[in-house]
Amino acid sequence: MKIEKNVICTFCGCLCDDITLTIENNNITKVEKACANGRGLFEGYDPHFRAPRVNGKEVTFPEAIKEASNILSSARYPLIYGLSSTSVEAQRISVQLAETIGASIDSTSSVCHGPTGLAMQSVGESTCTLGEIKNRADLLVFWGCNPLVSHSRHFARYSAMPKGRFISEGRKDRKVVVVDVRRSETAKSADLFIQIRQGYDYEVLLAIKALLKGKVLSATEVGGVPTELLQQFVHTMKSCRYGVIFFGMGLTMTKGRDLNVREVFSLVRELNNYTRFSAMPMRGHGNVTGADQVMSWLCGYPFAINFSKGYPRYGPGEFTAVDLLSGREADALLVIASDPVAHFPAEAVRHIENIPSIVIDPVESLTAKIATVYFPTAMYGVDCEGTAYRMDSVPLRLKAPLERQRKSDEEVLEAIFEGVKEC
Ligand code: SF4
Repeated sequence: MKIEKNVICTFCGCLCDDITLTIENNNITKVEKACANGRGLFEGYDPHFRAPRVNGKEVTFPEAIKEASNILSSARYPLIYGLSSTSVEAQRISVQLAETIGASIDSTSSVCHGPTGLAMQSVGESTCTLGEIKNRADLLVFWGCNPLVSHSRHFARYSAMPKGRFISEGRKDRKVVVVDVRRSETAKSADLFIQIRQGYDYEVLLAIKALLKGKVLSATEVGGVPTELLQQFVHTMKSCRYGVIFFGMGLTMTKGRDLNVREVFSLVRELNNYTRFSAMPMRGHGNVTGADQVMSWLCGYPFAINFSKGYPRYGPGEFTAVDLLSGREADALLVIASDPVAHFPAEAVRHIENIPSIVIDPVESLTAKIATVYFPTAMYGVDCEGTAYRMDSVPLRLKAPLERQRKSDEEVLEAIFEGVKEC
């Protein structure tokens, strides 16, 4: 039996790095400090060798690589998708592969925080690290997100609860405001809850910006929120020492999308005329931030990239996976650690069923079950080392507490990359 301390949980963008695992016979028998989501990642994980499959039949690794390479090199308009639950190293090779075969490449960002990327590009981003927030932030605003459920240890480790260098009393020294369309679990624990009408985030943000600039509103309410309450909220933001707005898919994937996020970033920029303020997206998948980072380093764009002309072209709405599949444009699909069959619209799923697909994933997802070629791989941060970016863009090195018996995503991608060059 061995005890492995300070393991990183890669389930969500918090990347908690204090997990303790008890390991017996290369199996995890006890998980300590993780939340329920994190425990689910480690508990029951089976690291045993499983052979790759082609059309449902077990084959050798070279046979599977040959089939995958043939599919990708003979495709006219291939698509590579997923990437948010794998390592930076695997993401980097995926981009090289996309360039080599002239593919489109897209990550799960396009169905969660893609609008955040668009907003960053248009107005810039005032950001900070979670460490800074822990040590300094006395005002935390959660807009369109529910971290007590989705990022369960965010409150305890980084935001509301911890004592920090300039926050000696922890929660007592911080004010928590939640802006949402319903009273979520997070809203129930807030000092102030501002309930807005669904689809009115943009209007509410514009009203807040106007009030911040000293304008007088003739309207008595905006988006279901009394103007008086908005004025009080503006005063709270202006008078804090260090504030941060965390925002989630309640803002990015509702009416207004990137325009909503653009208003958050520009509001934060205005607030910096009065005090110190930042904004941070609540990133979901463990390394979705890494996917954006890697694609931005290598291509200049964070997602929705197409290499069919030999150079990267950016096209959210055109080269995003849902659009390429729903429009029946992609004629082959490579999925890395993601499950579009479980989450994409029916039209896109129907097209996935009709084209050859390759899945690289430690978990046999619904997409893996119908794939032409399936590679069961090791899980990054469990039986495979690698690098991942936390939601505040801090890169962390992942340990491999279990002994590895399967190929890593990186190794499979490298072999496919060599295979397509030979085809
Ligand atoms: Fe894992 Fe996220 Fe829970 Fe932390 S908050 S233990 S990273 S699932």
